[in-house]
Amino acid sequence: MPELPEVETIRRAIEPRIAGAHITAISVQDASVAAPDGPEFLQRAVGATVRAVLRRGKHLILLLSGNSGIVVHLRMTGALFFCKPPAGMRVRAVLSFSNEERLLFADTRRLGKLQYYENLKPLLVRLGPEPLDEDFTAEALGRALSRHHIPIKAALLDQHIIAGVGNMYADEALFEARINPLTPAGALDQVQVHRLWESIRSVLGRAIERQGASVDTYWLPDGGRGTAHDAFCVAHRKGAPCPGCGLPIERLMLRKRGAYHCPRCQPLPVQETPGRRHPTQPSPPTNTDTKRKPSTASRRPAQ
Ligand SMILES: [Zn+2]
Repeated sequence: MPELPEVETIRRAIEPRIAGAHITAISVQDASVAAPDGPEFLQRAVGATVRAVLRRGKHLILLLSGNSGIVVHLRMTGALFFCKPPAGMRVRAVLSFSNEERLLFADTRRLGKLQYYENLKPLLVRLGPEPLDEDFTAEALGRALSRHHIPIKAALLDQHIIAGVGNMYADEALFEARINPLTPAGALDQVQVHRLWESIRSVLGRAIERQGASVDTYWLPDGGRGTAHDAFCVAHRKGAPCPGCGLPIERLMLRKRGAYHCPRCQPLPVQETPGRRHPTQPSPPTNTDTKRKPSTASRRPAQ
């Protein structure tokens, strides 16, 4: 699934080719890509000039006039191409521009979305801080985590706590910070929070330099591949030797997602109790995660 480094890589590839051009046509082959508003609503963007291409968390945003824009969420298997997509990837929509560029939205699992927002602000403010921004400090991360007793891995995946981190880079950051994914978020001490803050930023920064991780269906818009996965320490490496100690990497299930970690380098913290030592009890994984649905009200025309 494309995360911050992958979406940022796509943004950097796309912006120079379409910024300043205006949208001449939006052709939708699969109406579900534009749900819930529908393809007709997307047509409101036709004729508008692309002022810039932005990224917020895992969202790619074609900024149009005022606060309006087209938001692309690639979800699990979505990808954008200026060239013909690889075999097996189904084109769901095509954006045409005044400078003859054509941007194809392809997706195998049909979960990605292409949506027009008349006002982007509600989307932008409901997401958590950008981890690579200058004002994202270790103190801010510590404050955000201290309010949560869910496992730290689950907290890092919550886009309201921190935007853009997904399964792969949460695993990598936790390994680099030597923190067990089941540790309750609010139980991290100041030193651990600082280490995690540093590791989140360095893991994401290095992945952008390598143009993202092409572990599955992530492609660059020109059909190229990223190489960040070649440098992964734990993510997608179950059974491989830990680069820190040589023990096989393990994968545990946490809220229906795999969490790769090293059981020796990332032990559960122990807390002292009279007469014995035992691992800190993590919050039990739940099967009742409620995904907060974004308000669609802002995409509707003003009444
Ligand atoms: Zn290890």
